[in-house]
Amino acid sequence: MIIVMEKDSGDESVENVVGELSRRGFDVHRSTGAERTILGVVGNVETLDPREFELMEGVHEVVRVSEPYKLSGRAFKRENTVVRVRDIEVGGDQVVVMAGPCTIESEEQVARTAEKVSRAGARILRGGAYKPRTSPYSFQGMGVDGLKILRAVADSHGMATVSEVMEIRQIEGMLPYVDILQVGARNMQNFSLLAELGRVDRPVLLKRGMSSTIQEWLLASEYLMSGGNYNVILCERGIRTFETYTRNTLDISAIPVVHKLSHLPIIADPSHATGLRDKVMPLARACVAAGADGLLIEVHHQPENALCDGPQSLYPDQFIKLMDELRIIVPAVGRSI
Ligand code: PEP
Ligand code: MN
Repeated sequence: MIIVMEKDSGDESVENVVGELSRRGFDVHRSTGAERTILGVVGNVETLDPREFELMEGVHEVVRVSEPYKLSGRAFKRENTVVRVRDIEVGGDQVVVMAGPCTIESEEQVARTAEKVSRAGARILRGGAYKPRTSPYSFQGMGVDGLKILRAVADSHGMATVSEVMEIRQIEGMLPYVDILQVGARNMQNFSLLAELGRVDRPVLLKRGMSSTIQEWLLASEYLMSGGNYNVILCERGIRTFETYTRNTLDISAIPVVHKLSHLPIIADPSHATGLRDKVMPLARACVAAGADGLLIEVHHQPENALCDGPQSLYPDQFIKLMDELRIIVPAVGRSI
């Protein structure tokens, strides 16, 4: 249920309503918009009689939200959410590009890749230290030693960092090094991990599960937000379909659909979506044209030697060319890069 306050409702009437709801055991989330304050009430709201609240001072209307996701929905917050990461805004005017290797392998690898992607305009450096590998015999990542490399290299280029967290025990050790905690496709419905990340003061990049509907994905974001972490960035990374030519099928339509249903920013990952380097560039262009708030792209200074996801990693020169192309497309959709 959401309670929309009057345009000129003062703090006191908002506090009154919040107090009454808290007294009855409900969690109240506040969205302070440019126009008015909206209160998102979560819990067993079936027991509440909307009329009681409609009569309270400063209340404009009480609306039952039919969608199962509440805090991530547009009804709760009309303005787009802008997630601030250091001096970068995801979901604002700028299309934000995150790039780097699939996996952190060595200082030299991260440094050589970062030097290129940063000069081309990527603002956030990616690199996995804990890797969700399909086979237990594949390289599993460098752990904290890798994160130290990621942080140091990112700092030397004034970049922010994003890296995947696979389990609750890793969170604390990652915080000194990682600006955005990535939840991978395989963990999108790891509800205990999501609940814990909901209590952490750090933006989360929530990838879409490979067989998840948009509704399930938004409900996953609800786990983060209902815990108090509103800094959620969604990432479309392809879903499983009957097509086997590409690694997954990139659901570009998810971008405008999410923008309609939710205020959260959505970026796209054409690397994991296609698994094929030569398909990454056209799809990256398409996602930006469709309104993506950013891109996550795998780049490796020597993809043929990559320990993970080499076939989908761009050569630095390809990434530079892609950024040049994006600089032409982005103004056409009213954004900057
Ligand atoms: C990744 O970004 O390295 C990754 C493993 O992605 P996904 O969870 O989308 O497969
Ligand atoms: Mn990868």
